Amino acid sequence: MITLALSKGRIFEETTPLLEAAGITCLENPEKSRKLILPTNRDNVRIIIVRASDVPTYVQYGAADIGIAGRDVLVEHGGTGLYQMIDLNIAKCRMMVAVREGFDYDNAVRSGARLRIATKYISTAKAHFAAKGVHVDLIKLYGSMELAPLVGLSDAIVDLVSSGNTLRANNLVAVEEIMSISSRLIVNQAALKLKRELIQPLIETFSEAANA
Ligand code: ATP
Ligand code: MG
Repeated sequence: MITLALSKGRIFEETTPLLEAAGITCLENPEKSRKLILPTNRDNVRIIIVRASDVPTYVQYGAADIGIAGRDVLVEHGGTGLYQMIDLNIAKCRMMVAVREGFDYDNAVRSGARLRIATKYISTAKAHFAAKGVHVDLIKLYGSMELAPLVGLSDAIVDLVSSGNTLRANNLVAVEEIMSISSRLIVNQAALKLKRELIQPLIETFSEAANA
């Protein structure tokens, strides 16, 4: 039996065609079902539904053998106990620094001002600003980062951007890219050895489908 950890929403949706390519169909819709362990058409594969940011933790401890998680989540997690197998080229976006329209970010950076940054990605943001030599106070949020600069909680945010519509709707502008994001297949290190005959074909099919 192999257990695959996925999050609901875009990762589940964008993974479905990859699973289909491997002959795996999830038998329940996680958006409708309250079940957290979902059967598939293969009696040796099951899917567990967890928070996007919890996927690496389930795989790290072997509660799931494999999982799919965004680069944002993996960098923040650190990757202990995980093999990052392939870039699936799904759930693509960019991690950006954004500020209120009219806030002169470049000038603030040049003048050595101390910046308040609100984000869910504390350790990634910390590393980014440390590498630039910018002094920051980091404020941890769990969602709706766009609000923080509008109500004076922070000068800037570090968040994921795809179309830019949410930023625009809130009079924010992206001023710096931190990294490009896509989702990766991750594998528990012990599971890869112990269940290689089940996991290896999946890795191969996923990587063919992802590059097609
Ligand atoms: P949680 O509910 O745990 O806070 P979340 O809101 O981050 O999770 P999603 O919005 O489904 O969950 O994001 C899951 C992953 O999809 C993210 O980790 C990221 O890699 C990617 N992602 C997030 N936002 C976008 C976007 N706008 N476009 C494309 N991919 C995205
Ligand atoms: Mg989200």
